Amino acid sequence: THGTVIIGAGQAGHTTAMHLRAAGYDAPITLIGAEAAVPYQRPPLSKRYLLREIGQEHLTLGSPAGRAKPEVELRTGERVAGIDVARQAVVRADGSTLRYDNLVLATGARARRLPDTLVNGVQGVHVLRTLADADALSGALDEAKSVLVLGGGFIGLEFASVAARLGRHVTVVERDRLLQRVVSEQAADHLRSEHLRNGVEVLEGRELRSLDGENARVAAGVLTDGTRIDADLVLAGIGAEPEVELAAQAGIAVDNGITVDDLGRTSAPSVYAVGDCANFAWQGGRLRLESVQNAEYMAKAAAAHIAGRTPPARPAPWFWSDQYDVRLQIVGLTGDGDGVIRRTTEDGAGFSLWHYRGDRLIAVEALNDPGAFLTARRLLDRGISPACHHLADESVSIRALAA
Ligand code: FAD
Repeated sequence: THGTVIIGAGQAGHTTAMHLRAAGYDAPITLIGAEAAVPYQRPPLSKRYLLREIGQEHLTLGSPAGRAKPEVELRTGERVAGIDVARQAVVRADGSTLRYDNLVLATGARARRLPDTLVNGVQGVHVLRTLADADALSGALDEAKSVLVLGGGFIGLEFASVAARLGRHVTVVERDRLLQRVVSEQAADHLRSEHLRNGVEVLEGRELRSLDGENARVAAGVLTDGTRIDADLVLAGIGAEPEVELAAQAGIAVDNGITVDDLGRTSAPSVYAVGDCANFAWQGGRLRLESVQNAEYMAKAAAAHIAGRTPPARPAPWFWSDQYDVRLQIVGLTGDGDGVIRRTTEDGAGFSLWHYRGDRLIAVEALNDPGAFLTARRLLDRGISPACHHLADESVSIRALAA
């Protein structure tokens, strides 16, 4: 038996290995990752790690070798070069091959880069995806006076809040509105006002035309309307692209991610895909999510199937973001809602936004309101929608709604 090979040692790859062992799978497992570091969590890279509140040791997911029996073989710093689906083999950079009974693609996503035409050959433009990116960014931030953030998504805004906290002058430029794709207007409004309160300039509906340099270092960003923003550090937080090339070259079906079924199976026999790189069926459509919860769920489901067990049902998607002293937690997808009810916490410190489509609850955004988030997860996972008039009545406690 050749066992299971996992390509990508991030959140999803690591979790797949751990769940395989937990499910009693005792064939060999080889976990291959291109990065030098042992598997680690990315969320703190734009939060507490960048603020230097925690060190690298707090990011580590732990070497699975130490914890799982039989041992998982972890190979870091190795980029897989190809997949031979017919021979059920992985092709390594030196041309040698490694056979598999099951293959799990957990290749994640990579930060989208600014096009060269905008960068203009200047230095000082960063992305934030890996630990190496975060370390480079952290060093650059020490030297920087003013920071230009391109993209008002989660990574751009989390970085803006860190840079503002560290006393830098920060400007965020966003083509649409802040967090357009992922949060409601009301939640975005709240976060925008936090940024403004902390001295960040937020320019929405505006776009970069080019970067200007001095001695090959970035000196300013120029917008399409001619506005010039002085900056000696630029973060491009303009999204991530799924790493699908290995799969595509092997002839595996790809469409905004590697296409998988409910069990995480790709179009090739015995090949699974999990995490940020995978595109799965969801409520009659298809979806690709970039979240820790999705990586962990998909890893668990694929591991269960490989180990001959029944995978758990997919829970409602959830996500969080920390900016300043605000913790935003989202469960469900707000996208196609047509009504919203707002509830304030008893102490007035937080609130939640309950999104409905007709009389069906589809998503909840909680801002410094972990209680509402927990209740909402319970409701959505069970497919329960509280009546709108109950929810709108603040004398009815949130917890009573889920009882
Ligand atoms: P990744 O973690 O990207 O791991 C994929 C790995 O595969 C990489 O290490 C890559 O090098 C490797 N790889 C790719 N190709 C090859 C190859 N050919 N050979 C070998 N190895 C290869 N999510 C949340 O839910 N909440 C948050 O607050 C949050 N904050 C985030 C903050 C930042 C700065 C970032 C970058 C992400 C954040 N996320 C957050 C998203 C979350 O981290 C990702 O969804 C999660 O890491 C996905 O895990 P993954 O294993 O699918 O992909």
